Amino acid sequence: MTGFLRALVLWLTEQPLVRRLMQGSVGRRFAGRFVAGDTLDDGMAAAAQLARGGIATLLDHLGENVSSREQAAAAADAYIGAIRRGRATPGVDCIVSVKLTQLGLDSGVDVCAENMVRVLQAAQEQDPAMRVMIDMEASEYVDRTLDLYLALRSRHPVGVALQSCLRRTAADAERLAGPEAVVRMTKGAYLEGREIAFQRRDEVSRSYVAVTRTLLEAGSSVHLATHDERLVDGAREYLHRTGVAADRYEFQMLYGIRRDLQNRLVEGGEPVRVYVPYGTQWYPYLTRRLAERPANVWFFLSNALRVRG
Ligand code: FAD
Repeated sequence: MTGFLRALVLWLTEQPLVRRLMQGSVGRRFAGRFVAGDTLDDGMAAAAQLARGGIATLLDHLGENVSSREQAAAAADAYIGAIRRGRATPGVDCIVSVKLTQLGLDSGVDVCAENMVRVLQAAQEQDPAMRVMIDMEASEYVDRTLDLYLALRSRHPVGVALQSCLRRTAADAERLAGPEAVVRMTKGAYLEGREIAFQRRDEVSRSYVAVTRTLLEAGSSVHLATHDERLVDGAREYLHRTGVAADRYEFQMLYGIRRDLQNRLVEGGEPVRVYVPYGTQWYPYLTRRLAERPANVWFFLSNALRVRG
């Protein structure tokens, strides 16, 4: 979506009336396309279904920007519960992805680090090699997120997301790159100004390719998190031509998006993992999915009008 439309959708979804409408029954039904449900049971049911199709899961317990230490500790507990449940469920390859603002980053790096270490230790108790992934949030959090990731990675299996839309990401990738790095490559879901972020799709894609190459050439493991078929096909060609080992990459997509492409990759023998969000705090996640694609907005509005009409 163009920057203007994206900004418009994000602004609209912050308006109280729109928010009320979207959090009602129509919005809930619409959210069901992108969110597995309100509970961990719902997340695990989605994971089991994906596993039957040969797809692994990245669980996301929805929530961000919590305002108290208690909420941050509760979010860490929820992740620990998800890790244990995932491990106890046979036939399901399931790890978790956290947002640092959900673990208390707005209350202080120390609060967040304490919760993050609890989550990492719980994962390692289940399996010493079990990785925990860190989502990347809006640009104001990038420094703190990368600093914490770098501080943790020598002691715990942990990975972090980068956003190719940010101009700084090429330099960040140079700093992170190496065999110890595990990086999820995304385009970036947040609205950022032109002084810090590429606005044109072709620039964002070019940056995606360049940063991915930097990481792979340095021996890093890369999770190619995109539904962009050109990037997916280009990455496959590059990975096979240069002989990148299969345990150093996987393709990742979001729950409910491009199932056809997910299945095509599985059929082609590629490792695929789907990001499965669950929980009651689905509103900010849903607004980002709406802002990515105008068709989602029309789809939502036509449903809303049909119900009201
Ligand atoms: P686009 O060019 O936006 O889309 C390519 C095609 O994918 C579209 O033509 C359409 O067919 C389909 N598509 C894309 N989005 C939608 C949608 N919302 N609804 C329906 N169809 C759609 N961003 C972050 O900022 N931080 C993160 O930590 C983060 N983690 C992610 C983890 C995973 C596994 C994935 C897949 C994405 C993640 N993102 C994250 C979101 C990412 O940054 C993009 O906003 C999102 O993936 C859309 O970009 P795209 O690469 O799919 O390409």
